[in-house]
Amino acid sequence: MPSGPDPSDGSTPAGGHQLVRGISAFQRRTAPLVRGELARLAREGQRPVQLFLTCADSRLVTSMITSSGPGDLFVVRNVGNLVPLPGAGSGDDSVAAAIEYAVDVLEVRHITVCGHSDCGAMQTLLGARDEHPEESGLPQTPLRRWLRHGLPSLERMTDDSRPWTRLAGRRPADAVEQLSLTNVVQQLEHLRAHESVARALREDALELHGMYFHVGEAQAYLLTEASGAVVFDHVTETEELRSPA
Ligand SMILES: [Zn+2]
Repeated sequence: MPSGPDPSDGSTPAGGHQLVRGISAFQRRTAPLVRGELARLAREGQRPVQLFLTCADSRLVTSMITSSGPGDLFVVRNVGNLVPLPGAGSGDDSVAAAIEYAVDVLEVRHITVCGHSDCGAMQTLLGARDEHPEESGLPQTPLRRWLRHGLPSLERMTDDSRPWTRLAGRRPADAVEQLSLTNVVQQLEHLRAHESVARALREDALELHGMYFHVGEAQAYLLTEASGAVVFDHVTETEELRSPA
């Protein structure tokens, strides 16, 4: 019998060693610096003001791109930053549960849906459409079943009656970028359909935001909807000053 770890059981491959090294470095270097703040948060509980919903893509480091730390963001991540419509029958209530908890229990003031460039989920959605142009459904694998919550984004993208989506003054570079941007707008609509979100919006207790992160540019864009146009723009200094510290 080999004395070392057995990579065939999937429990201790090289990536696992990397994880252990990372944890060890955290305990040595970072934990002493954040222990006081984490102890305070443990005592007082979390009071985040922001629900941040984004893709599971490894290149999106939520704390880095928002300069946030422990207690700041209540984060939901999934493939394609999708928000199933209420009653969509997905058999997956996790996103709806997180929305309900964030809005009704934590009373967050902001919800941000963040898409990104080169998104594998958007590529898969586009690929499925091109493979099966006559079918609105997707073949039944768990991934594709999940991605059907992005089908309304595909429809929205091809709806000529909708205004053009622009990215800081330019058109989207390609179909994937266009779908990623449209998907943010569409998933914000899905959010509004959730009861807790609709109620909080009526009471002026909640604001929704759209965001796009361009990985290759290391550039974040925020959605602004002015005079019917859908524009993702750079964050201006004014917005930077207004945002909470
Ligand atoms: Zn993605």
